[in-house]
Amino acid sequence: MLGPPGSGKGTQGQILSSRLGIPKIATGDILRAAMKAGTPLGKDAKRFYDAGKLVPDSLILELIKTELAKPEAQQGAIFDGFPRTAAQAELVERTLTAHGQRLAHVLLLDVPEEELVKRLHGRALQEGRTDDTPEAIRTRLLTYHQDTAPLVAYYAQRGVMHRVPGVGTVEEIAEAVKRKLGR
Ligand code: ADP
Repeated sequence: MLGPPGSGKGTQGQILSSRLGIPKIATGDILRAAMKAGTPLGKDAKRFYDAGKLVPDSLILELIKTELAKPEAQQGAIFDGFPRTAAQAELVERTLTAHGQRLAHVLLLDVPEEELVKRLHGRALQEGRTDDTPEAIRTRLLTYHQDTAPLVAYYAQRGVMHRVPGVGTVEEIAEAVKRKLGR
């Protein structure tokens, strides 16, 4: 699942995970759990996370390696929130290839910037995530454009990219995802 913050990756990834019966791996959720539990990863990640910046690749690469090695991920998984940088994309590709697997589909949820800002501020009031301050929201959107958006061209070139309009009801978007994937 690729797309800017607030595009609905988590929601659609969860629906897809239940429908296809394969696990969803979400780096953001893993980081939030690590910060809550006060693990070394959580402590190292916190200042980047709270500022809306990317957590350094050195930390994320370890995390992704651990997740991809888990037995439940061996039959396939939905990646939510990674890869987010070129280095992460390379690690994912190398790791999957080593296991005789590949990234079969990349889903990009297309949502206009003004809608993203509206959603993120709305969610901030409800959920109170520590990275939902106006400043951190701005940084997260900027970071997406700088570091993650270039992956769209990278995956398009590999012929695995699907664009889905991310505006409408949750059900409509889930239906569009289903049509794109053909299952
Ligand atoms: P959102 O897409 O709304 O920003 P996420 O839960 O996916 O929500 O990510 C929240 C934060 O967690 C990011 O701003 C970043 O600090 C950190 N993070 C999550 N995934 C990654 C990743 N793959 N690489 C670096 N940082 C990450």
